[in-house]
Amino acid sequence: MPQLQLRGTGLGDVEAVLFDKDGTLSISEPQLITLAAARVFLCLEQVELALRPALRDLLERAYGINAASDAIHPAGITAVASRDHNLIATATALAQVGLGWPEALALSEQVFAQADQADARRAAAGEMRGTSATTEGLLPWLEQLRAAGITCAVISNDDIAGIEHFLASHALEPYFAGFWSAEHRPRKPDPAAVHGLCAQLGVAVARCALIGDANSDLRMAVAAGIPHQLSLGYTAAWSTTPALAEPHPRIHHWSELSIGE
Ligand SMILES: [Mg+2]
Repeated sequence: MPQLQLRGTGLGDVEAVLFDKDGTLSISEPQLITLAAARVFLCLEQVELALRPALRDLLERAYGINAASDAIHPAGITAVASRDHNLIATATALAQVGLGWPEALALSEQVFAQADQADARRAAAGEMRGTSATTEGLLPWLEQLRAAGITCAVISNDDIAGIEHFLASHALEPYFAGFWSAEHRPRKPDPAAVHGLCAQLGVAVARCALIGDANSDLRMAVAAGIPHQLSLGYTAAWSTTPALAEPHPRIHHWSELSIGE
């Protein structure tokens, strides 16, 4: 069975590699900043002037936006959580400036729908999702995995349409045998998400590596039964390096990985 190697050191035999998408396969920070900023802007428009400074501060902190450095917290809610968790965080900020919960929730749903429409318009214009770049050196690494007969899959909290769009826009579908999205149950970071994806792929969990840019990915992998040294942190997609928990090996460039016998 092929062995996964990091900077020349063997990590273990693998039959499959499960990849997180945002911040691992894709450089999503610019798109996430645009989306979060649109949500902030649309929320502020909906409340009276006097509430706006406090609401802006609450939303930016909740979303993990660092306006000064134009960066997103790599472990923040915008970066790692699903759309509906972001929606609840938005409603919470609206409640904190005095809105009732039903009103806060309804307003959040309205704002998210508007932000999605703006997102779709940009995608249609070829600006947004469609052009979210892949991380540097990804394609040669996927080619190596394919040549070695290793199955690859995506495990992401994006929805099915988002995952399919990303893969299609970079012509990556031939490299991935399957995916697990926010619409699958249970979703990431439940370890059963890994079991569900492995069952779908027909591979043994203990023969998988999982690569992600968040501690929640790495904890999930280990809890699911993936060996510690095959639960790998990827750090190169963010302007702020993600603070990943120690014993997990870290990848700073795809060229650090190789396949041996
Ligand atoms: Mg990620």
